[in-house]
Amino acid sequence: MKKFEQVVTVNKTLLSAFVILIICIFISLFHVFDIKNVYKKQAVDNYMDIISVATMTLDKECSEIRTACIQMGHELSTYSIDASDFSKDFRALTEEYKEYEIVFYTPENEYYSEDAIFLDNHSKDYAFYSDLSSSLFSSNFTSRIDKVYTESTEECIELKGIYRFKPNENGHYSYLVFSKDITYVMSENVYRYINEIASCCIIDSGGNIIIRSSDFNDKMGEFHDNVFDALIAVSNNHIFEKNKIKNVAMKLGSGNAEDFVVYAPSGDKLYCYFKKIENAKGFYFFTCFDTGTVESEIAGGAIRSFLTCFCLIVILIGVSIAVWTIMRNSSELIEKLAYVDDVTGGWNFNYFKKKAKEIIAANRESHFIMCRFDIMNFRYINEAYGHKKADDVLVACVQEFKKYFSNHELCVRVNSDQFLALVLNDLELNNRLQRYSKAVGDRAKMSGVRYPIRFKSGFYQIKKEDIDIDVMIDHANVARKSIKSDNKIMEAFYSESIVSDMKKVDIIESEMQISLGKEEFRVFLQPKWDIVNDCVIGAEALVRWIKDDGTVIYPSDFIPIFEQDGFVEKLDFYMLEKICAKLKDLRKKGGYKIVPISVNQSRLLINNPDYVKSVERVLERYETDVHNIELEITETVFFDEKDKMIEVVNQLKELGLTLAMDDFGSGYSSLNILKDIPFDIMKIDKEFFNEAATSEVSVIIMQKIIEMSEALDINVICEGVETEEQVDMLRNIGCKAVQGYFYGKPIPMDEFIEKYLKEE
Ligand code: C2E
Ligand code: MG
Ligand code: MG
Repeated sequence: MKKFEQVVTVNKTLLSAFVILIICIFISLFHVFDIKNVYKKQAVDNYMDIISVATMTLDKECSEIRTACIQMGHELSTYSIDASDFSKDFRALTEEYKEYEIVFYTPENEYYSEDAIFLDNHSKDYAFYSDLSSSLFSSNFTSRIDKVYTESTEECIELKGIYRFKPNENGHYSYLVFSKDITYVMSENVYRYINEIASCCIIDSGGNIIIRSSDFNDKMGEFHDNVFDALIAVSNNHIFEKNKIKNVAMKLGSGNAEDFVVYAPSGDKLYCYFKKIENAKGFYFFTCFDTGTVESEIAGGAIRSFLTCFCLIVILIGVSIAVWTIMRNSSELIEKLAYVDDVTGGWNFNYFKKKAKEIIAANRESHFIMCRFDIMNFRYINEAYGHKKADDVLVACVQEFKKYFSNHELCVRVNSDQFLALVLNDLELNNRLQRYSKAVGDRAKMSGVRYPIRFKSGFYQIKKEDIDIDVMIDHANVARKSIKSDNKIMEAFYSESIVSDMKKVDIIESEMQISLGKEEFRVFLQPKWDIVNDCVIGAEALVRWIKDDGTVIYPSDFIPIFEQDGFVEKLDFYMLEKICAKLKDLRKKGGYKIVPISVNQSRLLINNPDYVKSVERVLERYETDVHNIELEITETVFFDEKDKMIEVVNQLKELGLTLAMDDFGSGYSSLNILKDIPFDIMKIDKEFFNEAATSEVSVIIMQKIIEMSEALDINVICEGVETEEQVDMLRNIGCKAVQGYFYGKPIPMDEFIEKYLKEE
């Protein structure tokens, strides 16, 4: 049991640990995703920082061109274009801004540059600047980023600062245009880095691509001049994506586009970001990168974290599996401890209760019998053949059951030699029980136990309405207990009468001690009659239990119970004392004939080591003449415990007492006893004697027994003589003494004394 509790405690601890581990695994998993997200965010943030730096580089150029352009514009506005030295002054001013290509356009379609003056073939350029929306000019300046082609048709990107002068009287403007080739900007480190991981370009507010990174087209799949067209192509014209992109395009136009994600049909995501170039109004730095880019960006750190978490999870899973295995093993052990009987290796009582309930519930239509049985004299088997062999018998009981009964039937050992079985009540049941019992007996014989194996079985027929399995078991047990060890049939079915009998037993046992004190046990005497001389030659003391209310209980109703609980020893001495006291009393009084009185002695007394001594003390206490006391011991005692009996009888005879063997012929009578045990009187049982009345053979046997007894100097008394014919028959075969209703029924002691012993 201690082991069982330990396993349960260990299991509880393991279970808690297991739950904690599972929680840890979930936390780890959660963290793995969390870490991934953190890395992802970090990667995007880093990327955005880089884009900011890239944008700032561009912005710086824009800002410088702005300052220079506005500065020169302001100065120029103080000059008169019509003046003859304007060209000279203009050129002098451009000296200060060498890094820019500077051109001045007059409203009259003339232009001034460092090396070309007053040429008129730039009307297209002028028209372009005049077309620029006024809103693009903050006060009098705006900047642009343009793609241009050099003479060698090589593509280059120009940053332009455009200063617009006050209009002339015709409303036409003059423009000062600063240009700078910024192609190199796109090849700087920061752009190169952006290029490596993403696609980037500079777009105008309509999404038109001004400058694109070298592999922009490769990444986008095909060539597009407009970034939104490129994105729509990436989404494979998916209607939802298309609408979304168009929506962003509209917002970009109005200057408030947000970052967004485009979904490609492959499941890839394209993260798109716009970064306004502050000093180039209406221009944006656009960049986009796909899931793969993010994944590869986060790969290093994330993989390390993943690996750590993965290792942790693997360890946790390993530990969890170990815990689970231990728990499974220990739950098997628990089941074993809880449900297996360690002696027979079969199931135990707990299992029986659980399983029997299930079987009955699952087979409501079948009729089951609950059977509680034990092995008769198992204690003897244990002592005579040893524990090992006795245990083999118990094992056989469980194992043989399986051979003769179905899966719906069950047999377990409850404890010691007590068994419980649930069996189907069908026509074959008796047959199966017999074969089973024989098989167990054979197995026992094979293992060397020669003592016959007999079961004492109590049965209870389970009813449909029965629910409580404990009650069914109790009923079967009640039936078993109702079988007395001297019963011929060792099987009993539970019935109401058994219960009421047991109640009676309970009442008797609860009252007997008090009744003895209250002297409710009374001595009755029955005369023994000399049928030759026709006179009283003695009496037998028979106990009667007379209750306060006058009810008389006969010995057959309580002696067996007292024999079970040992109270009979007290009662027998009580009777002996009463007789001895009465004899002493009669002697004192005088005027009464004294005849020997026989007292019945229970078989239990034989095993009491103080028995003979106690008898002697009683005789001494009442100064009883030992010739006046006879002790009757039933014949079965001689048979069961012969050696012990011989010893006790000899000791009693040494005290001078007369000994009678009671009820000869009622059981397994053996004439051998006559030679082995030196008793003085043999009382032939009325059953034996009744048979003689009907069968001539019995008469002859009885006659021979009487003759033989006489020869051995043993007196014979025939009990239960009720008729004159019986007396005649007995007289004819040589019987000299009888006891029976014909001569007198048992009557209260004092009445008997007055009736039979009073001298005239
Ligand atoms: P037993 O010792 O064989 O006593 C004889 C029984 O036969 C008595 O029954 C008696 O009443 C009955 N009997 C006598 N003559 C006749 C007859 O002509 N016809 C019939 N049918 N029966 C007759 P009782 O008194 O009921 O006692 C039954 C048994 O109880 C006794 O059998 C004896 O074994 C036991 N017993 C009685 N008193 C005591 C006692 O004080 N101590 C012990 N240990 N056993 C006692
Ligand atoms: Mg008797
Ligand atoms: Mg008798």
